[in-house]
Amino acid sequence: MKQTQDTAKLLEQITALSHQYGTPDYVRGGGGNTSVKTAKTLWVKPSGTTLKDLRPDLFVALDRAKLSRLYDIVPPAESAARETVVKDVMGDAVLPSSKGRASVEAPLHDSLAATFVVHTHPALVNGITCAKEGKAACQKCSPMPFGWITSIPATRSVCRSGTKSKHLRNPPAASRP
Ligand SMILES: [Zn+2]
Repeated sequence: MKQTQDTAKLLEQITALSHQYGTPDYVRGGGGNTSVKTAKTLWVKPSGTTLKDLRPDLFVALDRAKLSRLYDIVPPAESAARETVVKDVMGDAVLPSSKGRASVEAPLHDSLAATFVVHTHPALVNGITCAKEGKAACQKCSPMPFGWITSIPATRSVCRSGTKSKHLRNPPAASRP
């Protein structure tokens, strides 16, 4: 019973964070993604929804042990085949109690140590990161440490990059819930 109450509280908290950051200042349309995790389960925004419209019952629950199989698979070289493998593993990890399809960004969220993860796509930050010398500009003006991933060839690679980044693995205390 206690576990059910704890889960409900976690989902209420991530829903409130989703609404707080699901504004045009941080995301456009269905962009951005939020999640919350325990040791065994990751709840993530379903694809095709917006942060501002999320409700606790809409989050897709994934078995983290099954999701972690992604890190052991040698992916096919061809991109469509690679994406199929990723989708199959992710589909298999969805708990039977969940409806909907987990965002393709779920493995990235799973790879981060923080309980609550909010990732957004603010136009201002996209502008800086796409600019020449963008990394140096971020170092100058970011209020907190950040991770910099130089390319995104596939979901799996993003996760690997994420887990290699010291700051993504261990976010600064100020950003922890
Ligand atoms: Zn994203």
